[in-house]
Amino acid sequence: MSSLLRKLPAVEQVLQHAEIEALLAQLPRDVVLDQIRQMLAAWRGLLLKGQLPFPDYEGCPDVISRLVQQVKENFLEVTRPRLRRLINATGVVLHTNLGRAVLAPTAIEAVITAASGYTNLELDLSTGKRGSRYAHVENLLTLITGAEAAMVVNNNAAAVLLCLSTLARGKEVIVSRGQLVEIGGSFRIPEVMEQSGAVLVEVGATNKTYLRDYERAITPQTALLLQVHTSNYRIVGFTRETTLAELVELGQKTGLPVMCDLGSGFLVDMRHLGLPYEPAVPEVVASGVDIVTFSGDKLLGGPQAGIIVGKRIYIEKMRQNPLTRALRIDKLTVAALEATLREYLPGTPKLTNIPTYRMLAMSRDEHRRRAEELAALLEEAAGGRAGVELLEGSSAVGGGAMPLAELPATLIGVKPFHLSVSELAANLRRGEPAVLGRVQDDRLLFDVRTLLKGEEILLAAALAAALTRSEAVE
Ligand SMILES: *Cc1c(COP(=O)(O)O)cnc(C)c1O
Repeated sequence: MSSLLRKLPAVEQVLQHAEIEALLAQLPRDVVLDQIRQMLAAWRGLLLKGQLPFPDYEGCPDVISRLVQQVKENFLEVTRPRLRRLINATGVVLHTNLGRAVLAPTAIEAVITAASGYTNLELDLSTGKRGSRYAHVENLLTLITGAEAAMVVNNNAAAVLLCLSTLARGKEVIVSRGQLVEIGGSFRIPEVMEQSGAVLVEVGATNKTYLRDYERAITPQTALLLQVHTSNYRIVGFTRETTLAELVELGQKTGLPVMCDLGSGFLVDMRHLGLPYEPAVPEVVASGVDIVTFSGDKLLGGPQAGIIVGKRIYIEKMRQNPLTRALRIDKLTVAALEATLREYLPGTPKLTNIPTYRMLAMSRDEHRRRAEELAALLEEAAGGRAGVELLEGSSAVGGGAMPLAELPATLIGVKPFHLSVSELAANLRRGEPAVLGRVQDDRLLFDVRTLLKGEEILLAAALAAALTRSEAVE
């Protein structure tokens, strides 16, 4: 052991290496020194545990060079762009970990325009006076949803927080027990409620809540009746939830506002795509609800944003809440959202310009045809190192929307012969571009639904590389 430890160079020796001297010309000495010390400490730690820093450490004549190489690679890794484009072959259309919706070409164009010059973000060009950044999307939102007024914040979690804080701070909000959900990434209704300063009043049971449960819970302290879409979660069987129409009627009778957190919230009926019935935003607005909130980057297919539509008196109050300033959207979001919403304008159906919509709308035949084409490409790329076959399965909407929706799909299963499926998945994830599929038993599944133009060729090249990279670095 001590002879192994003696092979570790001293910091001074490493510093004198020509390649480190070159690094010192680009980076502060402290940073380089720190990195060398860390590497040495890590290697020492391994040796003390009886492990070698690299397989032929004992017989290696040039341990310093190996260490220098490692230090350089670490610096390269740090300076390399971290947020990268990747290929989503999972078939999950709205994948929160993968950035949810891919923007429409018009939205991308709008972002580039807004980013590369000055804009009238908060300037009213007709009067020369200060304008509102929300004005760029408010008219579009009211036109499309039928609501009186609209505003937009950073994401839907922020929208819910702002609504609760504005309408019910220090007061009570009545929610059904069946709707106290957690929606990934720690968005939990009871916790958001607490942050907003509103007091949660739970009514009913997990599986059944009746209108009379709400009625009984109303006190002079009540400020709001809230309905939350259970998004990624369903209670099936012996269940009952109060309908929105019933809540609206109760709200009108008691003078209490009714709010609906729709979550995904889509602007058009999706039943023609074979998706289950859920009311679209215009239908929810038409039911007489006072406030509706939903995400910009879920089924709407736009940028991350939290959209609030509803009665003008409430939206006005929200604008005046100091929280609004902290939750405000930036100009790139305004640009992308405005362009995305334009695709929904009545009379000009251009929904197929929105990638999210197009992916969901892919016909069974097109899906099968593209899967067959990709399978042929992958078969060739595998070059006998993996079995490639077509399987029937399904894609998913994702984003916490429609968890039970089945989107029939023809999947491509790749079964590697010389690697485990998790090694293959790791190699693909670490490649450039990274590729994500779904691991199922001893196969890696690829779904063409979420592939964008030109990605088939890249995927095939990535598979060829991943299958030949034999040692998967763990
Ligand atoms: C997704 C979701 C949220 C959170 O929306 P973000 O835009 O991700 O902040 C809130 N409520 C419901 C019901 C949701 O489905």
